[in-house]
Formats: sequence, C-alpha cells, structure tokens
Amino acid sequence: MNSDAIVIGGSFAGLSAAIYIARARRTVCVIDSGAPRNRFAGASHGFFGQDGQPPQAMISAAKQQLANYPNARLINGYATAAEQMSERFTVQLASGEVLRATKLVLAFGVSDVLPEIPGLASCWGVSLLHCPYCHGYEFANKRLGVLYAGPGSYRHATLISEWGPTTLYLNGQRILTRMRWPSLPSEVLRSNLQELLRPLLNMGIFQHCNSKRVATAP
Ligand SMILES: Cc1cc2nc3c(=O)[nH]c(=O)nc-3n(C[C@H](O)[C@H](O)[C@H](O)COP(=O)(O)OP(=O)(O)OC[C@H]3O[C@@H](n4cnc5c(N)ncnc54)[C@H](O)[C@@H]3O)c2cc1C
Repeated sequence: MNSDAIVIGGSFAGLSAAIYIARARRTVCVIDSGAPRNRFAGASHGFFGQDGQPPQAMISAAKQQLANYPNARLINGYATAAEQMSERFTVQLASGEVLRATKLVLAFGVSDVLPEIPGLASCWGVSLLHCPYCHGYEFANKRLGVLYAGPGSYRHATLISEWGPTTLYLNGQRILTRMRWPSLPSEVLRSNLQELLRPLLNMGIFQHCNSKRVATAP
C-alpha cells in the first residue's frame, strides 16, 4: 500500500505526528504494536489537560480522533524492517504486508532495561519509578530510595530528597568520599543493595504491581 507518510509507533509522539500529517491533507499510515513505554503506570501526570488520566485511555482517545480522518489508516502490527530506495521508503510488517511512502516518521519510543535484581521488574511503574516529576508527588514524605546506576545517581539522590527522606543504594559500588561529593550527607548512603533488598521486599518497601497504591516504608 502507498501513502504520503508512514509512522512507526502509534503512541503519544506517533499519533501527534499523524494527526498533523492528516490535517495537512496527506495520506498517512500508522503502525503500532500497542506497547507504550508508560503502560505499567495506572495514571499519567503532568501532561497538559490530562493530569491523572490512564495512559491507555489517552492513547485510545487519540487513536479514535485519528480515525476521524479518512486519509489516515491505523494498523495494529509490528514493523520488522524499513529501507529507503531513491525517494521512497519501504516498511515491512510482521504480517507480511509491505507499505511504501515518501516520508517515514520513527516514533517507536525507547525500551527500559531494568537491573536484574529479583522483585524489581514487578514494581516498575508502581513503586519503582523513573521520574520524580511524573510520579514523585504521590510519594511525598515517604521513605525513598535511589538505586545507583552511574555517577549521576549522586545528584539524583540529592534531587529526590526534596520529595522525602532518601537512601542511595550503591548496589556494590564504592562510596565516594565527602571530599569528592561534599553536598551529599553520609547518612544518605547505603553500600550493599543485595544484602538490603530481601528485607526491603519483606517489609513491603517494594510492592507488587497488583497492588493499587504505593508502598509505605516501615
Ligand atoms: C513507568 C512510566 C511512567 C511514566 N509516566 C509518565 C507520566 O506520568 N507523565 C509523562 O509525561 N511521562 C511519563 N512517562 C514517560 C512516557 O511514557 C514517554 O514520554 C512517552 O511514552 C513517550 O511517547 P512515545 O510516543 O515517544 O513512545 P511510547 O509511548 O513508548 O510509544 C512507542 C510506540 O511504538 C510502538 N512500537 C515500537 N516498536 C514498534 C515497531 N517496530 N512497530 C510498530 N510499533 C512499534 C510501541 O508499541 C508503542 O506503542 C512514563 C514512563 C514510564 C516508563
């Protein structure tokens, strides 16, 4: 099938692009495999006019709005390959269908890769969070932890402490001295995550995704 534009990814970015392309009276085909990055969160925060809405409901509304344009097509599917040949792009779908267009928008997002620590994956988007501005408000004044992921984690821990008392779990990393990191209070540091994790899980600091609300620390 030929269209003016193909959009790979039909979530926040891809659907925004597709609606503008359709409104420009071009034909557009959106391919979406239905796994937006924030699918693990029950509510999305901070998005203009949509604070607290379930992400899937926001995406469904945008898909319905796109469907109002007869020059737009939405395919529930997965793009396996794309290539440019002279002035045209060709996109191959897992279904075997081949699409062609003069413009290609890549809006397939990013994938989060979590540390391989038992119990962590099931907490993602519930009590294990990627962004204080999106989800920190609901955790205000609770005991918070930052998992060391690199040198930037020290700054991250000081930032998070604005939401509540914060522990930086070093996950086996060596503690930096106060000389190298003067602004970080020593009581914020914990050195061995592996030792700490099982008691934390048992105490309910990490809570399973099936639970509706955030864990409270003892
Ligand atoms: C747990 C969590 C909670 C979050 N909460 C918030 C929040 O409260 N507020 C906020 O502003 N932001 C939040 N974010 C960030 C938000 O999820 C992203 O900014 C947003 O999803 C990015 O939109 P996107 O369209 O670029 O990518 P995505 O939403 O990730 O969408 C990409 C789409 O492309 C599809 N796709 C991927 N590959 C292919 C392929 N080959 N073929 C077809 N389709 C494909 C996927 O299935 C998906 O539907 C959160 C993120 C996480 C992880």
